[in-house]
Amino acid sequence: MNMAIYLDHAASTPVHPEVRQAMLPYLDEYFGNPSSLHRFGRDARQAVDEARDKLAGALGAEPGEIVFTSGGTEADNFALIGAAMAGRKRGKDHVITSAVEHHAVLETCRHLERIGFRVTYLPVDETGEVRLDALREAIDDRTALVSVMYGNNEVGTLQPVEVIGEIAHGHGALFHTDAVQAFGYEPLNVRELPVDLLSVSSHKINGPKGVGALYVAKGVSLIPHMFGGSQELRRRAGTENVPGIVGFGKAAEIAAASRREHVEQARRCRDAMIRVWEKEGIDFVVNGHPRRHLPHILNVSFPGTETEILLMNLDLEGIACSSGSACTSGTLEVSHVLKAMNLPEEVLRSAVRFSFGRGNTVEEVTRAAETTARLVRRLTGQMAG
Ligand SMILES: *Cc1c(COP(=O)(O)O)cnc(C)c1O
Repeated sequence: MNMAIYLDHAASTPVHPEVRQAMLPYLDEYFGNPSSLHRFGRDARQAVDEARDKLAGALGAEPGEIVFTSGGTEADNFALIGAAMAGRKRGKDHVITSAVEHHAVLETCRHLERIGFRVTYLPVDETGEVRLDALREAIDDRTALVSVMYGNNEVGTLQPVEVIGEIAHGHGALFHTDAVQAFGYEPLNVRELPVDLLSVSSHKINGPKGVGALYVAKGVSLIPHMFGGSQELRRRAGTENVPGIVGFGKAAEIAAASRREHVEQARRCRDAMIRVWEKEGIDFVVNGHPRRHLPHILNVSFPGTETEILLMNLDLEGIACSSGSACTSGTLEVSHVLKAMNLPEEVLRSAVRFSFGRGNTVEEVTRAAETTARLVRRLTGQMAG
């Protein structure tokens, strides 16, 4: 039997059975529009409010600080464009981000450049950590916003967000962090972080796709980017995705309650794979920060192989993993994250990302690692150790 092993949780995760269960009534009898004043509307409104409470609870925020969006991408777009446009009104025309952000941030920054903002893309060191000296040098009193992700989706490196936030605030700039990958793994508490804006996404934490949220700290004003009705406290127009929001609320609640367990299991899976390759004596390099990294992401290069060929062969063996970012796979383009880390060519060209999640077992990842080792040997002509 050839059961597939899913090791691509950084791309998306399966919907938790309790999440699915929580959503079903909102696809059936509770179909009302939350803006309607009748009973159908009130039921839907209540469900959205409860989901907002749950998400706020998971982040340490007030419910009024949560804006539901269509996903992590929209949360990032709203944070960057909303804060940049608000800054422009106060004579600020500069945005700082990093070279290793998700495309949802990077492409939004390209858009900001096209409409007249200056954008600084901070370099990173070989572990993927943002160079703080470069931040201190780039920031000035015309900087509207600093946006640096909490944990990287390709290599898992955690950024020093506390320090970055302090530096931003020291210059009167807002601080946004894309915490899509960190949510559910890191103890995110917006009360204890110097952060004004924080993005999360539902489908990375066993919730449904097409829903996310932006935390907007009380007192921070953003220029809206969606126009229409007065939904989401007048911050984001459009009829709410009620089933999605309900599912996201449930997923956030479960993620917060089972975080430690989740972290431990991911760590065990990560360690198990590395142990297999060490034992097998194959040539491999783990990319990212050796200690300060997300527990569920393992980016590894097998020098002498090529990413695309390795992925194809792994897929044939029933192992689903990725080259890093789902948005760039299918093309031979080298990862912008690994490139920014200045890794040697053979490391760049042979990187694959395994990412763990709910349901993964040490047994199956061990099998996956053994299969990977066998493929790497075959592809590089190495003899069995
Ligand atoms: C997945 C992801 C996003 C995009 O979220 P969607 O809900 O898929 O739009 C943004 N940032 C990071 C770091 C991600 O991993």
